[in-house]
Amino acid sequence: MPIKLYNTLSKEIEVFKPIKRGEAKIYSCGPTVYNYAHIGNLRAFLCADLLQRTLKVVDGYKVIWVMNITDIDDKTIKNVNDDSAWKPEMGTKSNDIIANLKEFTSYYKDEFQNDIRLLGFRMDHFHDFPRATDYIDGMKKLIVLIADNGFAYESGGSVYFNVGKWKDADKYGKLKNLDFDNFRTGERVDSDEYEREQVSDFVLWKAKKDGEPSWEFEFEGKALIGRPGWHLECSVMEKEILDLPFDIHTGGIDLQFPHHEDEIAQSKAGYGIEPTNYWFHNEFLQVEGQKMSKSSGNFYTLRDLIEKGLDPIDIRFAMLSAHYRSKYNFTFDDVEAASKSRKRLQKYVYDLISNNVGHDYIDVTLFSEKFFDHLKNDLHTPKALGELFTFINQNSAVVMGKNTRDEMLEFFSEFNEIFGILSFEMPDEDIPEEVTMLAKKRIEAKKAKNFDLADMLRIEINNRGFVIKDTAEGFEIEKL
Ligand SMILES: [Zn+2]
Repeated sequence: MPIKLYNTLSKEIEVFKPIKRGEAKIYSCGPTVYNYAHIGNLRAFLCADLLQRTLKVVDGYKVIWVMNITDIDDKTIKNVNDDSAWKPEMGTKSNDIIANLKEFTSYYKDEFQNDIRLLGFRMDHFHDFPRATDYIDGMKKLIVLIADNGFAYESGGSVYFNVGKWKDADKYGKLKNLDFDNFRTGERVDSDEYEREQVSDFVLWKAKKDGEPSWEFEFEGKALIGRPGWHLECSVMEKEILDLPFDIHTGGIDLQFPHHEDEIAQSKAGYGIEPTNYWFHNEFLQVEGQKMSKSSGNFYTLRDLIEKGLDPIDIRFAMLSAHYRSKYNFTFDDVEAASKSRKRLQKYVYDLISNNVGHDYIDVTLFSEKFFDHLKNDLHTPKALGELFTFINQNSAVVMGKNTRDEMLEFFSEFNEIFGILSFEMPDEDIPEEVTMLAKKRIEAKKAKNFDLADMLRIEINNRGFVIKDTAEGFEIEKL
């Protein structure tokens, strides 16, 4: 069975056909590094991780995965200019506005990468994390191409995309079936984010305001000082790194309009090419049944949840257990349930490794095929996991013979290449697995120079009655 994916462009589940045989190029709209990522953002990245791992494991694709870093937009500029948003670890602000922007956003880029590492992402799975400010020249070139084709114009030192003209040339609103009831030709929107009701000409290049980072841009004989619009950034990075068209573009459902709609318009109006063949969007995350918001007090970053005692790998498993196109309701009970399920799977794997007597009578191949077929069917993780738990409920690891156990361990090895939640090393009997996990995370946090987190994890370990000592090989854990 081939892999099938829901494509927002066609609004149908389609068989995935790569552009180049055996290869899948994926671009994921990444974080805007103005603050810590919240768990709604993190869900979107986890869904992309699930997609790319599934392509690799179930069909052997070579995956080229790019996730951009938005380091220039309305939000990063606002926080860079807010002295109270600066942290002591960031270094000092200088008179160089662009250097300040880089300094501030580098901090949150590193923090983001720490977060996703803790969530079980593997850095070697990424081809590139391009930063928007490294692609400014390409952005200027794309604006010129769009203007040469007649779909951009300058006004007040900014350059706008002419949606009025473009909607007659191509269908604007493919992803989100826009109606143009409120559309008035020539009406412009300058902000990076706007609502569906505000469909208007959007900004490609924004004239500099006081105190903002800016670059020079020669446009139709005028020197325009300013900076790129957010939507333009992705169009350029994906073209320069992956070339167009590439296979799959991922992002949260909130990016369908205007961000992705505008990406399509820019690529087609400028480069003359549809950017991607498949648009992959995940649904929203809610918290305890409510929209997550700072004002409701239910706004969480990963570090908030670690402080509350949750293990990031349990959060990973909880989120992956829901289908990516369903709303995911984050609750502490759900993470607790995911934690129990994960421990059950882990114990089962340890039983497979340590057991050595039994009978070979179970058909692992049939079960394994069913499991992976659910994943191939638009990444249906709930059905796949349902299949797995039914199987382990009916087939105890301790009665299996050697051949069956080997087959099961092979299954779990593939399972784990996708889910990334299990360990195959037998634990030290005196030290609980969760303590070992915390110690491993602390080492990773230290490597990433995230000393706050490393300290927090050390305290967590102490609270559980153990002490961690650094050694040349890594660490040792002893009872307090
Ligand atoms: Zn994007």
